[in-house]
Amino acid sequence: MNTLIETLEQTQTLPDADLLALITDEREDVRLELSRRADRVRRQWYGADVYVRGLIEFTNYCKNDCFYCGIRRSNCKAERYRLTAEQILDCCDLGWELGYRTFVLQGGEDPWWTDEKVCALVRRIKTAHPDCAVTLSIGEKPRESYAAYRAAGADRYLLRHETANEVHYRYLHPEPLSCANRKRCLRDLKELGFQVGAGFMVGAPGQKPEHLLEDLRFLQELQPDMIGIGPFLPHNDTPFRDEAPGSFLLTLRLLSILRLMFPRVLLPATTALGTIHPLGRELGMQAGANVVMPNLSPVDVREKYKLYENKICTGDEAAQCRSCLERRMERVGYRVVVDRGDVKKIQEK
Ligand code: SAH
Repeated sequence: MNTLIETLEQTQTLPDADLLALITDEREDVRLELSRRADRVRRQWYGADVYVRGLIEFTNYCKNDCFYCGIRRSNCKAERYRLTAEQILDCCDLGWELGYRTFVLQGGEDPWWTDEKVCALVRRIKTAHPDCAVTLSIGEKPRESYAAYRAAGADRYLLRHETANEVHYRYLHPEPLSCANRKRCLRDLKELGFQVGAGFMVGAPGQKPEHLLEDLRFLQELQPDMIGIGPFLPHNDTPFRDEAPGSFLLTLRLLSILRLMFPRVLLPATTALGTIHPLGRELGMQAGANVVMPNLSPVDVREKYKLYENKICTGDEAAQCRSCLERRMERVGYRVVVDRGDVKKIQEK
């Protein structure tokens, strides 16, 4: 433990071998010490505040065929849906009443949603709720599309890099997707002035500890404002149906390592984490996370946006999700705030 304490002081500058040792250390006392330190760092920047994002899953049509994902093109069992702009705006209005000041529009890569339609939607949301941030999570696009979304008023973009290793990337995604293009997207998004979120699944099929090390190094290079991680969970109608789910405890350790390496980063305790363990999001908070993304989608489409099996909260109305989350967070010593929840800049500390 003593050498570990010294190691933790310098998480941001650890050499590869030491960082790898930290990632793979399965001792429970090490995990708890990581958690304590991560929570201390999180509180230095964000206190006990939890930022909430209203997640609107607005289309499950997708032209991609990612091997892990339940809404992949080849899954003909997926019942496809697409919300109308009016339905999405209704979600935002309800969300605003409930105290959300960030709306995340997430979907498959749906060609029906052209750049013009996306931009018009973003403008309508920003006009209706100028005090709110709009986050897009709609996959890989040409730089010009991202520039158009930004000009329309989008503030943030979530695009997990999934894995920084090219060979592993190919194992998870068929052509024409590529690791190089995914990284190009993230760099374009940063240059265009978005607050950018990257991230990866923990325990994705074929993932080795060395890949996680590469992920952390890629994140250090990119310096994103947000990092989304959650355990891989198999979906029955995908080629990875028989693969083992990712490890819950490894996900918690990685959350803590990320908090120590990126003290100010926005770090969600994800739905996948809440799915793999009944107190996943609470334990995620205690491990260094500071964001949760409750579902704002209409209840009748939630089952259909199924990336993996057993997804939680598919039956609850938006208001129920919100108050449930508030109580859960309070029980472990945190407080949901009404705030856009932008990343803290150094001078704001
Ligand atoms: N089309 C958008 C949104 C993808 S869904 C995009 O490409 O960014 C958001 C995230 O869910 C993905 O980035 C992926 O990391 C995660 N995800 C997909 N399938 C999953 C699974 N089976 N288990 C856990 N997470 C999954």
